Amino acid sequence: MPTIATSRTSVEISDPLLRIGGRGVAARDGETYTSVNPADETTIIDIASAGAEDVDAAVSSARKAFEDGPWARMSGAERGQVLSRAAELIEQNAAKLSALETVEMGKLYQHTVDGDIPATSGVFRHFAGWADKITGQSTTLPDVGPQHRFGFTLRQPLGVVGAITPWNNPAVVAAWKVAPALAAGCTVVLKPAEDASLSTLLLAELLDKAGLPAGALNVVPGLGPRAGAALAAHPGLDKVTFTGSPRVGKHIQSLAGEKFRKITLELGGKSPQLVFPDADLEQSMFWIAMGNFYHQGQVCAAGTRVIVHESIADKVVDGLVAAAQSAVIGDPFDENSTQGTIVNERQLDNIMRYIDKGRSEGAELVTGGNRVDRPGFFVEPTVFRGTNDLTIAREEIFGPVATVITFRTTEEAIALANDTRYGLNAMIYSSNLATVHQVIPQLRVGMIWVNGWGVPDPSLPWGGREASGIGRELGRSGLDAFTEEKTVHLAF
Ligand code: ADP
Repeated sequence: MPTIATSRTSVEISDPLLRIGGRGVAARDGETYTSVNPADETTIIDIASAGAEDVDAAVSSARKAFEDGPWARMSGAERGQVLSRAAELIEQNAAKLSALETVEMGKLYQHTVDGDIPATSGVFRHFAGWADKITGQSTTLPDVGPQHRFGFTLRQPLGVVGAITPWNNPAVVAAWKVAPALAAGCTVVLKPAEDASLSTLLLAELLDKAGLPAGALNVVPGLGPRAGAALAAHPGLDKVTFTGSPRVGKHIQSLAGEKFRKITLELGGKSPQLVFPDADLEQSMFWIAMGNFYHQGQVCAAGTRVIVHESIADKVVDGLVAAAQSAVIGDPFDENSTQGTIVNERQLDNIMRYIDKGRSEGAELVTGGNRVDRPGFFVEPTVFRGTNDLTIAREEIFGPVATVITFRTTEEAIALANDTRYGLNAMIYSSNLATVHQVIPQLRVGMIWVNGWGVPDPSLPWGGREASGIGRELGRSGLDAFTEEKTVHLAF
């Protein structure tokens, strides 16, 4: 068994292989890719890299499990029991799962072990509870002549689902897709991101241990343009659910268009944090800063446009600067660190290019702006003052870079918030209920947090509009997204 050494613990894992039909297998052409620790740039391990043939085998296995296998035919209660057992096993393996996530993508270990992994088991528990409550509607209909009529709907599992996940919250986002899909009776082929696949492979093993029948969940680690592209284009899928960049999301949408296939897309954002003059800044500053710097800004719901009333702009900038300058940037396994790493060098270079662009377009760099001089991919939390037309205010940076923009009137604040191609989420900070109620319906976003930032709950839908994506995950909506509704008209 390979051992993954981290600066905190050593973790024994199974050989990092594809998981098809309940078994670990190498890629047919023997390809692998190398996982790198972003905190010190050392090699972690080589992982089997799925190609088109492997994806094909995984889709066939999922199809067989859906058509012939016990999963879709089990009672909802039985499926729920498997998902509940999976939640328990995730809890028991929290330290291991967290270490694998942190070593591969540099998020603070304390945040994975206290936040992401409990959230992952929470999602499995939530959907375990739904599995035996998938019901339709019924209604009596007006008589037609001598015939009485009655109507009802069935919600049936969609079939075989292709799921493609990102590296920033691998276990959580896998759970958002896999748990409701399985609860509904679907089977799944999951492609984790190449920068962080190990926790997903362990998750699949835990699901098997929990009693998931072979083939109900297949995992095809691999590169985006190879395994991801093969999965997204595979004709044997009934649905594709994807979290990642708008570039790939657009491609998946066009493929789905050709095939009349259902999709759910979550594609990130450039979310506004609207700070009104009556905001309780003592409480709000924590969330405003967290919305920019948590996980080094590598969060789709990050609130990177801080749109502040001009009368309190200096205070908010001071608060952000204090948060940025007090950050302890270092080994994500060290409990004294408050900022870990950027996932890889390409992403770090991208962030540095955006910072240069902010400077060259005339934004005022208030603090930060530098790569940290040590091995690994570390960058200082950065605060700009600027305007909404700057590139740094228009494009998703996926790094710890805040842009503070001022407004004078509520109408102007709303217009600035909506002046973006994205529409994932928005935050409103105000102690005036009238302002909050006035603003909520006017924001073109899928989710709003009032006096807080971005923490999901499995019982409430998650998702955006426009370039932020299509559809909803989590909650009842997230479950329904894996079912087909069938309407029945009965006459007698
Ligand atoms: P990011 O730039 O944040 O890594 P991506 O959209 O590139 O976002 O990656 C999100 C997921 O999509 C990853 O699992 C990645 O491997 C996958 N992916 C990348 N390119 C493609 C593609 N052409 N088709 C399908 N999946 C892809």
